[in-house]
Amino acid sequence: MENNDTIVAVSTGASSGAISIVRMSGKDSISIADKIFSSLKNNKPSSFQPRLLVLGTISTSSFNEQAMCVVFKGPKSYTGEDMVEFQCHGGTQISSGIMKECIANGARVATNGEFTKRAFINGKMTLSSAEGMMDMINAESDAEIRAGYNLLSGSLSKLASFAQTELTDILSEIEVSFDYPEETIEYITKAKVKDRLEILSKDFGEVLKTASAGKIIKSGINVLIVGRPNVGKSSLLNKLLNHERAIVTDIAGTTRDSIEDTFLLGDTKVNLIDTAGIHNTDDVVEKIGVDKAKNLMAQADIILFLVDTSREYSSEDQEIYDSIQGKNFVVIKTKTDLENKVQKSFENEIQISTVSGEGIEELKNKILELAHLSNIPADSIIITNERHKDALTRALKNINSAIKNIEIQSLDLVSISIKQAYIDVGEITGNTTSEDIIDQIFKKFCLGK
Ligand code: GDP
Repeated sequence: MENNDTIVAVSTGASSGAISIVRMSGKDSISIADKIFSSLKNNKPSSFQPRLLVLGTISTSSFNEQAMCVVFKGPKSYTGEDMVEFQCHGGTQISSGIMKECIANGARVATNGEFTKRAFINGKMTLSSAEGMMDMINAESDAEIRAGYNLLSGSLSKLASFAQTELTDILSEIEVSFDYPEETIEYITKAKVKDRLEILSKDFGEVLKTASAGKIIKSGINVLIVGRPNVGKSSLLNKLLNHERAIVTDIAGTTRDSIEDTFLLGDTKVNLIDTAGIHNTDDVVEKIGVDKAKNLMAQADIILFLVDTSREYSSEDQEIYDSIQGKNFVVIKTKTDLENKVQKSFENEIQISTVSGEGIEELKNKILELAHLSNIPADSIIITNERHKDALTRALKNINSAIKNIEIQSLDLVSISIKQAYIDVGEITGNTTSEDIIDQIFKKFCLGK
């Protein structure tokens, strides 16, 4: 991809909002703007004070438009290059006409995420910060926005940069010791190197512990509702979603396949999955649903096991109960508005009625409690991205291997693991990431970002 040409895009997307923004970046952006924009006093953008909105007229080959223009002089801009933004009237035709005029005067259409890619290449932001910004744009909950902001503002980048500096320092200490090849110096160097690596190992280990909560923040809590037919699974799903998503009947086997939907619990997304009632069946279609329910159990963060208190506790109930042992589950005793026929009590149980509403709030709190989100301090780094988790895990493995082998191996050999850890951790900020991966990341961005 050429980075010395000038790119243009409608950054507000193809929507019919009140205002649209057309954005250009690159060495010719200001001269192109000079050709199409004049202020009310007939001044040209190249004479505008940077970062100040100026009202004027855009002239295209087919229409004139009253608009605002702002100039940013590189490196003090989003991309680090010269940039111009036009704020014009909304709709889709005006902005695309202005964009075409920029293209007619030498700009080319930006690819997805190209503005941000240039910002990364020009050192305006790290790769993980760019990913945090994208997370904010795509967020579906406040928790996701906060985690994205945390990443964007550089909390993880700072840790990665600190680690890289530390690893470089350790490597140079090892290098120096080669100039003084006496045993005592080697011994002192090894002890010091080990101490410093252990600090990094501890830091990385702590941060990696947040990855499961991070996955929940980003993708939502996967909550699976299981229980034999007619225990009230669909009724509970509808109650939690606050609308009639699933069909509720008293005919067993109505929910033959799983039903999925999402709702916000506080500021956290919950993916609720109502499974087909798990029981022994000969119905082929129903059997597929039952098998799927069993597979879904493996992917669930939390399982809600429903027991119908208006019927006797059965061997089928017990079979399901046995199959969820060792998983993160809560027993939900349903239909408490009816006569209770279940004497058995469970260690971790909640009683609910979707008719009276009893226990529903308690259940919501329980879901959040079982997701273990509150264990994470508000200002802590949270790993929400698989790529970061993978890079940090590899770096930790190499650091731990260096620590383990430092007593028995020469510093020369140990430094190989330390160098690899440096490369691994650099993938977070992007300074050791391959071009292919960088391209893949920015392709996921929206046009004009
Ligand atoms: P599923 O097969 O497990 O999804 O069960 P459904 O949600 O379809 O409910 C089966 C039957 O139980 C329906 O007739 C519901 O109206 C009824 N039901 C569900 N929850 C309650 C409840 O809390 N109280 C009462 N009285 N009936 C309920």
